[in-house]
Amino acid sequence: MDKILRVNMTDLTTKIESVPAEWAGHGGRGLTSTIVAAEVPPTCHPLGKLNKLVFAPGLLSGTPAANSGRLSAGAKSPLTGTIKESNAGGTAAQLLSRLGVKALIIEGMPKEDKWYNLHIDKDGIAINEETELVGMRNFAVIQALEARLGKKTGILTIGPAGELKMAAANISVKDPDSKIRSHGRGGLGAVMGSKKIKFISINGEGAPGVKVADPDKFKLAARTFAKALLDHPVSGQALPTYGTNVLVNILNEAGGLPTRNFTTGQFAAHDKISGETMHDTIAARGGKTKHGCHAGCIIQCSQVYNDKDGNYITSGFEYETIWGMGADCCVEDLDDIAKADSLMDDIGIDSIEGVVMFAVAMEAGIIPFGDGKGILRLLDEEIGKGTPLGRILGNGTASVGKTYGVTRVPVVKNQGIPAYDPRTVKGIGITYATSTMGADHTAGYTIATNILNVGGYVDPLKKDGQVELSRNLQIATAAVDSTGMCIFVAFPALDIPECLPALIDMINARFGIALTGDDVVNLGKYILKTERKFNIEAGFNASHDRLPDFFNFEPCAPHNLVWDFSDAEIDEFWNF
Ligand code: SF4
Repeated sequence: MDKILRVNMTDLTTKIESVPAEWAGHGGRGLTSTIVAAEVPPTCHPLGKLNKLVFAPGLLSGTPAANSGRLSAGAKSPLTGTIKESNAGGTAAQLLSRLGVKALIIEGMPKEDKWYNLHIDKDGIAINEETELVGMRNFAVIQALEARLGKKTGILTIGPAGELKMAAANISVKDPDSKIRSHGRGGLGAVMGSKKIKFISINGEGAPGVKVADPDKFKLAARTFAKALLDHPVSGQALPTYGTNVLVNILNEAGGLPTRNFTTGQFAAHDKISGETMHDTIAARGGKTKHGCHAGCIIQCSQVYNDKDGNYITSGFEYETIWGMGADCCVEDLDDIAKADSLMDDIGIDSIEGVVMFAVAMEAGIIPFGDGKGILRLLDEEIGKGTPLGRILGNGTASVGKTYGVTRVPVVKNQGIPAYDPRTVKGIGITYATSTMGADHTAGYTIATNILNVGGYVDPLKKDGQVELSRNLQIATAAVDSTGMCIFVAFPALDIPECLPALIDMINARFGIALTGDDVVNLGKYILKTERKFNIEAGFNASHDRLPDFFNFEPCAPHNLVWDFSDAEIDEFWNF
């Protein structure tokens, strides 16, 4: 029987609750957003006792369904002030699902200045005082916990950035190789830090496992679904070969690779940081060109990147991080970017917010553009040690812009704009503007249709069709984020007719229900509207669904376009 684990950090008590009927059909983002909307006062301080941190595995997590091992984390965000959901791979989602944990809700704040850990196993959850690992960085925490609790233990941890409640702090999740995946966006690590929880450990021994109502139907659908993932050229070939970093050359060619803090759309040194170069470098150094962030991932867009002596530097080396430190900060050395990626994981900083922030820090003159070693120093000696400058940087892009009087600050709702220029790829601009999460490319990834010709084609340079495209993708994504599926299943789902029905069949077979395609669309709409209602009650309105004004008057080469949507055109998004 599935259960809700509830932890009250004010009086240091725990409860095991049954799942309310109205939550039973939800998982992942649908569940975290439902719980946050129901239980968190929208106007509360995100780092105060009234905020709650919620974790929920997806509806299919813990089953053999391919790519279904994502865990959602939700809260009111200290970065954006909006509701937030951020999902990550790693081993935690599958362990929680097999233990029957539908959601973990952490509320309140300790009265004393002490740190704690939470330990989850088949008997429930316990709060323990933690002294040994406080102040340590994430890789050391994982190593120490594996020695303390065993190699198979699932771990969610925060680094110094989370302990210091920096608004760009993430929550790290141990992956199958004892490395790190991240609940990156929105500063949820700071929420965990505000509740004085250094880590959550999960012991899956004796777990009852996930019951599937109709195993034969499930197996059939799972096979069809997996075949679709492998048959699609993006999920079956491009991502496993080059990782997400395949996009550097594609976006550069399209003129949508934001460069030098979004001053232009092409980076002269794109070849030095491209997916193709990365692939050859990894292969030559004995790393892994493909790798999964959780057991059961058959796309394997991740990789293991070694230094020139064959020693591990980082894994899960994503396009957005490489773009940001590469093109946007003009750093040409992939090794420096890999080291920064690893340091951000270790300190516990969102590697998207981090790199967008560093480009603004360069514009502010803190270090020059192109100074990769300078970024490594700022990470290690300032953010990692929590100096006053480190705290300004660790609070994200908008914090640096405001502190240094920079006017070109690429954020929406205070969250850094990722790796696709909205003047050149207009659909993604609508997603940045309207997402309930602040600027978030994954919320409605129009790059698929604008650039990769997946799910049809909508010309990225024109306004026509972009609002509808972003709306449809945001609705679909909200639903997919509830299943525990990795977002990259969207590529085959958009192009291969059997893929989406197979996904729905798996959910139906798992729970013994009869969802239709319309039900899934309605689920996506419900999630977006629930999140938006929370944001409106928190004080947000249409004026926050806007891009920074420099996009309106600075043309982006080579297409020399500006962001030219009227307010009324953007606001059409919410007409559903
Ligand atoms: S495709 Fe990439 S992001 Fe998706 S589950 Fe696999 S490794 Fe993780």
